[in-house]
Amino acid sequence: MGRARWYYTDSTSRNKPPADRTPAIDTPPIIIPRDQHNISRANISEHALKVLYRLHKAGYAAYLVGGGVRDLLLGRHPKDFDIATDARPEEVRRLFRNCRLIGRRFRLAHIHFGREIIEVATFRGQPQDEDSEEVANANGEGMLVRDNVYGDLESDAWRRDFTVNALYYNIADFSVVDYTGGLEDLREGVLRMIGEPAVRFAEDPVRMLRAVRFAAKLEFRIPAELGEAIRAEAPRMGSVPPARLFDEVLKLFLSGHAQRTLELLREYQLFGHLFPLTEEMLEDNDPFALPMIRQAMVNTDARIMADRPVTPYFLYAVLLWPPVREAAARYREEGHSALQAMHHAADEVLARQRDHITIPRRIQNPIKDIWFGQWRLENRRGKRPLVFAEHPRFRAAYDFLLLRCDVGEVDPEACQWWTEFQEKDDEGRREMCNLLKRDRAPRKRRRRRKPRGQGAATE
Ligand code: ATP
Ligand code: MG
Repeated sequence: MGRARWYYTDSTSRNKPPADRTPAIDTPPIIIPRDQHNISRANISEHALKVLYRLHKAGYAAYLVGGGVRDLLLGRHPKDFDIATDARPEEVRRLFRNCRLIGRRFRLAHIHFGREIIEVATFRGQPQDEDSEEVANANGEGMLVRDNVYGDLESDAWRRDFTVNALYYNIADFSVVDYTGGLEDLREGVLRMIGEPAVRFAEDPVRMLRAVRFAAKLEFRIPAELGEAIRAEAPRMGSVPPARLFDEVLKLFLSGHAQRTLELLREYQLFGHLFPLTEEMLEDNDPFALPMIRQAMVNTDARIMADRPVTPYFLYAVLLWPPVREAAARYREEGHSALQAMHHAADEVLARQRDHITIPRRIQNPIKDIWFGQWRLENRRGKRPLVFAEHPRFRAAYDFLLLRCDVGEVDPEACQWWTEFQEKDDEGRREMCNLLKRDRAPRKRRRRRKPRGQGAATE
């Protein structure tokens, strides 16, 4: 894909960084001049350019960095533009009226242009001086809890996660600067960690999720050594604050490459640390769980491709459905009604899942609406369908039913009925409900004639 479209004329590879990619102070970077790479200002957002130029005019160093540079070199459209500078956050704020300083862990400047936000970060350094007020704190397990040591361009490069994310586009002369060997890895389609993967994952376990996200999105290879480190360090996911994981999981599944991401998450044993209850069902070879989640990811990717909206609550409803279904069956066996069982199961699974990933209040109710909606869609008695069709989550619940139907979890007759129902006008819908009543009536009479104990269970 993108890889083939990327090019640069390599005349400076004699400046290769050390093979082990460990920070080597004073290693000269590879610098690709403007006429030897494919980054054109026409493809950079005008707001990012504005910020870069203003910083430059004020005498600061200003570089585009991260996904912006990586994706432009690959001939892709960057999702956002990040800027690195030697200006301190307060100095950035003085230059831009529309600037807000955010973040505790990383102090960043956000420059707002309507809906577009350009993120400006001051160069970071290696945490070295134990006594310095600015020193990064590790929490005893090597995890960085504060990371505000300022540095220069070189130290900033070595602090980044992957070599392909540590490329800089210099607004001063439009060259591309590479300290870590990212250009070569970009050309070869390899995702390589900067430094020792185990150490970098201990500092920030979310880097494991980022590895999977970039490998899926860029179709890059995860080298064996990196893959092994992810498997070994995966349990560290448990030390990531659940609120951060909510955002990261959405990024994973809303990247447009959810299907591949899911495969990689499972291959590198990360999925079970994000969704342990669901993983248990997958490991038990539940016949519907994996096909349904996979199909949901295929649909999600297709929707993103078609620029159609994807809602976080639908994703979570799917990802947690297998354990909810199982818990509901258990409550049912304990004698609860179908709807009660579903309520208990939903509360139980959401509560247990929240130990791992925060599920914000705003999406909890929509998730439950989808789950309870399954019962409503499968129990079409009387005027219920007419009422439920007006529910704000009806369409989501119906899409969910289709998924279950696709994998054979529910009778296709119910899906067909609802599909037809939606194509009808009010009169037609009422007619369909009446027909159901009529179809049911004789069956009920027949049932009554059966000897006691053999009748079908009714709700
Ligand atoms: P995209 O925006 O396409 O998802 P990106 O690479 O730009 O990908 P961002 O989350 O926007 O990712 O981060 C911008 C850059 O900041 C990254 O490219 C990387 O250099 C650096 N970075 C982000 N998160 C981390 C992290 N957890 N550890 C180290 N470096 C990071
Ligand atoms: Mg980015």
